[in-house]
Amino acid sequence: MQYYSLQNHQHRVSFREAVIQGLAPDKGLYFPAEIPKLEKDFIERLEEYDPLYIARKVIQPFVGGDIPDNYLKQIIRDTVTFPFPLREVEENVYALELFHGPTLAFKDVGAKFMAGCLGYFRRGDDKPVTVLVATSGDTGGAVANGFYNVPGVQVVILYPSGKVSELQEKQLTTLGGNISALEIKGSFDDCQRMVKTAFLDQELQAHRQLTSANSINVARWLPQMFYYFMAYRKVKQWRKDAVVSVPSGNFGNICAGMMAAAMGLPILHFIASTNVNDTVPRYLKNGTYEPLAPVPTISNAMDVTDPSNFVRILQLFAQNERGLKASLTAYRFTDEETVAAMEEVCSKHQYLMDPHGAVGYLGLKKYMQSHPGHTGIFLETAHPVKFANTMPEDLQKEIDTPERVMQLFDKQKVSVKMDADYEQMKAWLMQ
Ligand SMILES: *Cc1c(COP(=O)(O)O)cnc(C)c1O
Repeated sequence: MQYYSLQNHQHRVSFREAVIQGLAPDKGLYFPAEIPKLEKDFIERLEEYDPLYIARKVIQPFVGGDIPDNYLKQIIRDTVTFPFPLREVEENVYALELFHGPTLAFKDVGAKFMAGCLGYFRRGDDKPVTVLVATSGDTGGAVANGFYNVPGVQVVILYPSGKVSELQEKQLTTLGGNISALEIKGSFDDCQRMVKTAFLDQELQAHRQLTSANSINVARWLPQMFYYFMAYRKVKQWRKDAVVSVPSGNFGNICAGMMAAAMGLPILHFIASTNVNDTVPRYLKNGTYEPLAPVPTISNAMDVTDPSNFVRILQLFAQNERGLKASLTAYRFTDEETVAAMEEVCSKHQYLMDPHGAVGYLGLKKYMQSHPGHTGIFLETAHPVKFANTMPEDLQKEIDTPERVMQLFDKQKVSVKMDADYEQMKAWLMQ
C-alpha cells in the first residue's frame, strides 16, 4: 500500500515511510492510495472469527508487505490484549467499552500498534528515533505505556503542569526507562505549539530523528478500525440498521470508523458528538469551517477546535458534500447536558458513563429521536475513574476503581519542569 500526502497527491511513500515520518514533509497528512474492499462473506461471518484474526485481516492491506506476516501477527497479539465489551444500556442503545486496556482509554490500541510497527522498522538501525508528543491527558499515558522498552525508540511527552488529572500524570511520569516527561508551565496549546516548532526545526531534526505519535500517524489512526468490527461481530440485529455515535475531538477515531465502512462494514450512519468545541457541527450546518479559541470542558480530551483528522474524512468522500452529509451527522453538547445525561443514565439504567461517553450517548439519542428504528452504539472511550475529578460527587461514589490503578498512586512521579519556551526544550533535546 502506498500513502499520499493530502497536500500533494503526487508525493507517495510506503507504509514504513509514512509511519517513520508521521507527517509528510509538506505538512500534509498521509492517506492510503486505495481503500481495500473486504469480501462480503468475511463480513457476514464475522462472529465466527476470533478478534486477532479479524484485526490482522483488516489491517494487513494497509501494511502491505512492509512488515512480514508473522511479525504483524505478533504486533496484533501485543495490541489486542483486552476485551471490548458491549453493554446494553437501554433498549436498542449499546455502549461499546473501549477502556479495558492498560491506561483505561481507547488510545491504548493505536499507541501499542504504532509502537510495534516503529519497533520493527527501527530494528538494527543505530540512529534512534524520538517520539515527541504533546498531551492533554490520555495520549501521554497510552504512548508511554505503548512504547515502554521498545528498543531504538526514545519517547518525550509534553504535558501542561497542573492541567491533567493525578491519575493521568502518574501514568506518564512513573515509568522511567526510555520515557521522559516534560512538565510545561503553560497550556496544552503551548505544548502542541512547541512540538510543532520542533518538527520544523532542521537543526534539531539533524540531531535527532523525530516522529509524532498523535493520530496524524497512520499507524495510530488505522488500527482504531478494529473497534467497529468487534462491535459488529456482537450485535446480530445490527445487520440492517446500525448507527454509531463517536465522542470526537481530533476526529481520528470516527475517521477510522468511516474507513471501516468504506471497506464494506455495513454501518448506515455516523454521529460525531462534540462538546462546545463544535467546529465540525457548525461546519456541517452552515458550510464554513471556522475554528474558534478552545473552551475548557469536563470532556477535556475533546477540547479541540481544529481537528487534524477532519481533512481525512473529507478525502474519504472525495470532497463530495452530499455523500458526506448522508453518512455523517454532528451535534454539540454543553457540560450541563453532559452531567444531566450521566446522572439520568446512572439512576435509570445503573450505567455509569464518563463525560466523553456521555457526550456520545447524547448524540446517539438525539439522532435516534429524529430517525427511529435504528440500533445504536455509542463508544465509551474512557473509564470513569480517569475523569473522576470532573464528575459530580454522587457519581464519583459509584466508580469502581480497578486494582492496577490503585498501585499507580504509590509510584514516584519523575518529570522535567520547564517554561513554555521552545528554546529551553530544544536545549534539553540537543543534549
Ligand atoms: C482522545 C479521546 C477522545 C477523542 O478522540 P479523537 O480520535 O481525538 O476524536 C474521546 N474520548 C477520550 C476519552 C479520549 O481520550
